Amino acid sequence: MTDRTSCCIVGGGPGGAILALLLSRLGVHTVLLEAKKDFNRAFRGDTVHPSTLEMLDDLGLATRLLDRPHGRLQRMTLRSGDTSTVLGDFSRLRTRFPFIAMIPQAEFLEFIVNEAKTYSCFDVRMGSRVTDLIIEEDGDGLVRGVRYRDDNGEHELRAQLTVAADGRSSHVRTLAGFETRPNAAAMDVMWVVLPRKDDEQGIDLTGFRVGHGRLVVVLARSTEWQLGYVILKGSRHTVKEAGLAALRTEVASLVPELADRVHTIDAWTDIHFLSVESSRIPTWHRPGVLAIGDAAHVMSPIAGVGINYAIQDAVAAANRLAEPLLAGTVSDADLAAVQHRRELPTRFIQRFQAIVQRLIVARALDGRPFRLPLAARLVSRVPGLRNLPARIVGWGIRPERSCTQRAGPRP
Ligand SMILES: Cc1cc2nc3c(=O)[nH]c(=O)nc-3n(C[C@H](O)[C@H](O)[C@H](O)COP(=O)(O)OP(=O)(O)OC[C@H]3O[C@@H](n4cnc5c(N)ncnc54)[C@H](O)[C@@H]3O)c2cc1C
Repeated sequence: MTDRTSCCIVGGGPGGAILALLLSRLGVHTVLLEAKKDFNRAFRGDTVHPSTLEMLDDLGLATRLLDRPHGRLQRMTLRSGDTSTVLGDFSRLRTRFPFIAMIPQAEFLEFIVNEAKTYSCFDVRMGSRVTDLIIEEDGDGLVRGVRYRDDNGEHELRAQLTVAADGRSSHVRTLAGFETRPNAAAMDVMWVVLPRKDDEQGIDLTGFRVGHGRLVVVLARSTEWQLGYVILKGSRHTVKEAGLAALRTEVASLVPELADRVHTIDAWTDIHFLSVESSRIPTWHRPGVLAIGDAAHVMSPIAGVGINYAIQDAVAAANRLAEPLLAGTVSDADLAAVQHRRELPTRFIQRFQAIVQRLIVARALDGRPFRLPLAARLVSRVPGLRNLPARIVGWGIRPERSCTQRAGPRP
């Protein structure tokens, strides 16, 4: 079966879902193809940043989103022994939303896609895995859409524009021939969740814990504590050989408040391994296809910005491409303009992540007694510098606002 649309978005993660919503609002016929049958995805990060909340507020959606149960991260603290240092204080940001909202990603995606479904030009096809690109035969390499597979078989979807929003292992990126360029990422993360008791709702354990050559990141979900046990790149097998009991002991000593429940980690299958990557593709586009989000730049988990950067790319893409999509005139220059707009913020945050990796993560893992480097101590203490990390993480440079004022047709 072959059908047509203006914009085919491959991947219903944060980048693809937001792009689909924004284009549909503007009346662009959009099909979102998602390989999975639902949005459930453990350990994918729940962080919705102030810049995203402001953008959603422009669309009248932030309040409704925040009416749902969620956590609020206001400060990022690093604790080493008895010393506690605030590395980022979001409550000092000048915004209606001076916090990072912790919303389970599945709920966030369902909320966005349900909103997109209120526009008649939007179509979501779950359980639809893209297998190939349709490429113009006459030699100019123009991408004309995709081939995908679902429970009913093989299909073709022709489109004026195909967007690769299919994440860090993007298949469309490979099919389009985009080369990836890795940056250094000297760590891996083992994610685990521990139960959060009802009477712990007001308790904030969020932040980094450092000690004995170990580093744990603690994040608060509404019913769980999410812990990222950070290890040197490639040392997963050493941790496994040491055994689960050793891991439980390490976690308990770094986060003694949760020592009473580390026994709930009782199998390696409870632990989700993340091979940390950081990379960028030099060119995000070719005629008929554009990569956004992780497909264009895989982010290190430092500062939890991957979701936000995927969303910011989507907003920039919708702002630049809606008019040419409606007019049927999308050119490679339009796609290049999206990359041009987003490349600087992306390079900047990846540089910031590399600095944090070198100054904090590498030192925390090298086994010697940990001392926060002078630069980090200055940033946390000097009044003029204190707001900088929260601004960089919460806003980034040149945060995108949607110019979507005109609503598209509703069914
Ligand atoms: C363990 C882990 C923890 C993380 N924690 C955080 C965090 O705390 N904060 C943060 O900001 N970021 C975090 N991230 C990163 C964050 O998840 C990503 O940066 C973000 O989700 C990127 O969004 P995206 O829309 O580009 O891609 P993704 O969210 O990866 O979405 C891609 C979608 O494409 C679909 N897909 C893949 N291939 C195909 C295909 N061939 N056809 C159709 N669909 C396809 C996938 O099923 C998926 O739904 C984490 C990542 C991991 C792996």
